[in-house]
Amino acid sequence: MKGLCILGATGSIGVSTLDVAARHPHLYKVIALTANSNIDVLFQQCLAHHPQYVVVVNESKSQEFQQKISHSQVSDIKVLTGAEALEIVATLDEVDSVMAAIVGAAGLLPSLAAAKAGKTVLLANKEALVMSGDIFMDAVTASGAHLLPIDSEHNAIFQCMPAHYKTGTDGKQVRRILLTASGGPFREMPIEKMADVTPEQAVAHPNWDMGKKISVDSATMMNKGLEMIEACLLFNMSPEQIQVVIHPQSVIHSMVDYVDGTVLAQMGNPDMRIPIAHAMAWPERFDSGAKPLNIFDVRRMDFEEPNLQRFPCLRLAYKAIHAGGTMPTVLNAANEIAVEAFLDRRVKFTDIPVIIEQCMDAIAVAVADTLAVILDHDQQARTVAKQIIADRLN
Ligand code: NAD
Ligand code: MG
Repeated sequence: MKGLCILGATGSIGVSTLDVAARHPHLYKVIALTANSNIDVLFQQCLAHHPQYVVVVNESKSQEFQQKISHSQVSDIKVLTGAEALEIVATLDEVDSVMAAIVGAAGLLPSLAAAKAGKTVLLANKEALVMSGDIFMDAVTASGAHLLPIDSEHNAIFQCMPAHYKTGTDGKQVRRILLTASGGPFREMPIEKMADVTPEQAVAHPNWDMGKKISVDSATMMNKGLEMIEACLLFNMSPEQIQVVIHPQSVIHSMVDYVDGTVLAQMGNPDMRIPIAHAMAWPERFDSGAKPLNIFDVRRMDFEEPNLQRFPCLRLAYKAIHAGGTMPTVLNAANEIAVEAFLDRRVKFTDIPVIIEQCMDAIAVAVADTLAVILDHDQQARTVAKQIIADRLN
């Protein structure tokens, strides 16, 4: 029986993780659930899974939650609050596996704490890895933690890697990785129309049902840029070894190309419960609840090269990884601020890459050798990006 902590339980990945866990009550016990502020969903999850601990980061929501449970059958749950509490529950002795499913940089410290504590880290929160890079990977190596990718592409790559492969090490005889992308909702939209894209259009992804931030990232293809950096770190590859491939059907979730000419692909329906179940059952397998793939429904699969003019965010991700050091941290932070401004209708869809690039050009790259440097550059980038947005509005 493994103890499970879900960071970001109320989000899209968190909900899917609980769905998978509920299918295997003899294998997984839910120890801790965390949320930022969505206490209604969290309360329902507590009734269904009865964890020992809950973190509600927002303080007033946490008090409200405490009252909500006080006269219920889950009144014995220990309710914690504040961002530091996330680290407490991610490192509890009773916890074996931590699902890192908070969105954005907010997930870094608890995910890193779990890695340092030697937990099995199921990593959905790509921003945490992109912003901290080697620091995160070194923490995993030092503690002997298992780091299993949840991002569907990275999970696919992991499944196509040699037997007994461990993330962070060399993939023996691997020539390159083919990182697939759906191309998002605007793959075929005339480029000049992209300035008028609304948040509603951007979050309506053709194949995947996800949180708002990652949906916008998929539409700009910054998601693929972050994933390219994520793949370099997880699989110890250079950016030149990662080929992004647009594959609109989202049936192949990525491929690994070996030196002998073999290309292994992982396929399945676009349902995040598949990678989640893979990582939770690893090295075994169990039911995920996903529909089996009907290959006859697929009929055809298309592949094309990404157009960097249409998707400048992808170019910026390559620029960031080539600059190295703290530049991926800056890229990620500026993107978070720009996406938030777009969702608030303060900037246009096509302003997102402009804001990010101006921010990257404004901040000098530093060696990313300590967590303090990372957090400092994350903050600097947020301040600069907000200023750039304010200047554009004036
Ligand atoms: P979501 O917006 O649906 O959920 C985010 C979760 O994080 C919620 O539980 C929320 O309470 C929590 N959260 C948000 N801000 C927080 C903060 N400041 N402090 C603490 N908790 C906070 O997002 P999602 O789609 O589930 O994505 C989660 C992560 O997984 C992201 O990093 C995303 O890139 C990655 N991911 C998601 C998918 C997907 O299909 N949804 C696929 C691959 C990777
Ligand atoms: Mg992905």
